[in-house]
Amino acid sequence: MGDAKTVHSPLVTYFSMLSLLSLCPPFVVLLWYTMVHADGSVSQTFDYLKQHGLKGFIDIWPIPTAIAWKIIACYAAFEAALQLLLPGKRVEGPVSPAGNRPVYKANGMAAYVVTLVSYLGIWWFGIFNPSLVYDHLGEIFSALIFGSFVFCIFLYIKGHVAPSSTDSGSSGNIIIDFYWGMELYPRIGKHFDIKVFTNCRFGMMSWAVLAVTYCIKQYEVNGRVADSMLVNTTLMLVYVTKFFWWESGYWNTMDIAHDRAGFYICWGCLVWVPSVYTSPGMYLVNHPVNLGTQLALYILVAGILCIYINYDCDRQRQEFRRTNGKCLVWGKAPSKIVASYTTTSGEAKNSLLLTSGWWGLSRHFHYAPEILAAFFWTVPALFNHFLPYFYVIFLTILLFDRAKRDDDRCRSKYGKYWKLYCEKVPYRIIPGIY
Ligand code: NDP
Repeated sequence: MGDAKTVHSPLVTYFSMLSLLSLCPPFVVLLWYTMVHADGSVSQTFDYLKQHGLKGFIDIWPIPTAIAWKIIACYAAFEAALQLLLPGKRVEGPVSPAGNRPVYKANGMAAYVVTLVSYLGIWWFGIFNPSLVYDHLGEIFSALIFGSFVFCIFLYIKGHVAPSSTDSGSSGNIIIDFYWGMELYPRIGKHFDIKVFTNCRFGMMSWAVLAVTYCIKQYEVNGRVADSMLVNTTLMLVYVTKFFWWESGYWNTMDIAHDRAGFYICWGCLVWVPSVYTSPGMYLVNHPVNLGTQLALYILVAGILCIYINYDCDRQRQEFRRTNGKCLVWGKAPSKIVASYTTTSGEAKNSLLLTSGWWGLSRHFHYAPEILAAFFWTVPALFNHFLPYFYVIFLTILLFDRAKRDDDRCRSKYGKYWKLYCEKVPYRIIPGIY
């Protein structure tokens, strides 16, 4: 078992972990409370807290109930079963830092379709009413906050006693190991990949399931679904559909290929995605804004266009890498840099960097349409309240930071070749500006 190369200093880790543990759980609860019980108004929640203080805050913190645990357990078991049992093509992931090549079963799209059809089916046939999920949302989030912590203790112990591959190891610091993770590809048995489960089948899937839940709840309350809700749900579903359509591509990205399975990433996927990512829809349940057909259609088309461009950027990079540069990019032979690097085991390897198409506009152009798409599925809420826009703002900060982190990583991986790319493509995200 190799030693984990520590990319994060202990001090940054302690600070990051302390803030995640002390700020994010209360934020998730307050976000839910404000959306569901305080009309989406930050000032209303603020007044309540000013009046009732800490006791008031404790009063609104939902205790995880048996029904919340049951909903989570059924959902998680269903998704795990689909991941294991549904057929899918054998897909190889990228070569890991230790020189391994993880193998996956690409059945994400099938799992996505089966999940949504089953969810709508059990509602249609009166077996389970998705409104219940909305009615117990606070308890569910509270259970997830607690449960994800316990789950990460399990990951930590597993990383120590039964790592699944040589892509694992301890940094010698228990907090760093727990927070940033010990294993890159933890598995249960040979086939059940834990990160595919947490990131894709639990986290991303919950986004679609909750989007549908919000829509159904509005329908059950008002007897109809407002066009604003329809635009929001459709765009979020198009986005998640795109995700599952391209899931095996996701296995090549930083989340899977570089970030180890620790508290930071698990918390993000198991708690932050279901609560914060879905929050514009959560807001709309009690705010059935009517946009009118024309405006609704404009927003819908703009959102779909952004999601398509984001998808096409990812597709272009992957097709380019898959064909070893022997493909057409915007109708022409691609321009490229052959970048050599050394793996942690000392092996010399080459990678191709695409310098034309979307990847010639800026080094992370794909983040721009990603942010715009989120804006378009939020704007149906109009501008009465700030809180629905929290996700867009959060995403903008996240992706600008990610672009910097990725640049730093690539600079240390590729050295002079990355410098050459930066000279050829000088902007990081927005061409001509940043
Ligand atoms: P990227 O798709 O940006 O991949 C980055 C990696 O690609 C680099 O580390 C490098 O890896 C390789 N690379 C960089 N430049 C080039 C180039 N010119 N040609 C070929 N390969 C290159 O990873 P992300 O994970 O950031 O993004 C993937 C998708 O996920 C995007 O659509 C993004 O918008 C989305 N996303 C969404 C988030 C959300 O919360 N909604 C959060 C993060 C991402 P290598 O070592 O292989 O060279």
